[in-house]
Amino acid sequence: MEKPYGPTAKVNKTRMNSRKHRILELALDGLRWTDDAIQECASRESLNKPLACKPGCHYCCFNQPMATPPEALLVGQYVEQNFTDQERRVLLDKIERILELTNGESHEEIVKMRYELPCIFLKDRMCSVYDVRPAVCRTCSSTDAEHCRMIFESKDPLARLRCYPHMRQIFQAVHTGLLTRCHEMRCQSDPLQIAEAIRDYFNHPSPIEAWIKGEMIFHLTGVD
Ligand code: SF4
Ligand code: SF4
Repeated sequence: MEKPYGPTAKVNKTRMNSRKHRILELALDGLRWTDDAIQECASRESLNKPLACKPGCHYCCFNQPMATPPEALLVGQYVEQNFTDQERRVLLDKIERILELTNGESHEEIVKMRYELPCIFLKDRMCSVYDVRPAVCRTCSSTDAEHCRMIFESKDPLARLRCYPHMRQIFQAVHTGLLTRCHEMRCQSDPLQIAEAIRDYFNHPSPIEAWIKGEMIFHLTGVD
């Protein structure tokens, strides 16, 4: 990639002045950078097939996505502002079910169960947090949606998507960049499982402010 990921410089330029908004802007900046990098990669003439991903294509959403703390806080705030009380209750029930099923299981076991565990945000084949979905979802991509469908129907947990390796590099760059920034800010900087992270977000009275102050607001029982 020609332009390395550098959230710090951009965040310093933001006009948002509260610390809470700055941390959400850090996440948004990372996601914008991810989208730009994907677009730049996909437009290269050397790639012989375009990406097939689009909203509503959901076979890759039978997964438990990971997120950095700023991404999880952004998603939590999005849910807080955009979901009805009823939708939030349904979401928290889904989280409880997922965490019950995965409690004590290794990462390998969770991967094996993945077709029984749709992402908590998958609703009517759509992502209910699409605008703020984490970088891992944006870079989980394929040149062949039909192949994704076949993998989904085969229920083979180890089958790989037909994708360009550049996407993995884009994900690693933004994921590591965001975690490094959290560490520099002396805030919790662990990679998080999104279901657990959203449960913890709603279990805390002021999660964003507490995270900024350096509190360990996210529990890590689902990450091995
Ligand atoms: S990775 Fe596959 S299933 Fe997911 S959006 Fe792209 S084409 Fe669709
Ligand atoms: S957050 Fe959205 S895009 Fe990502 S796995 Fe869940 S439903 Fe799919």
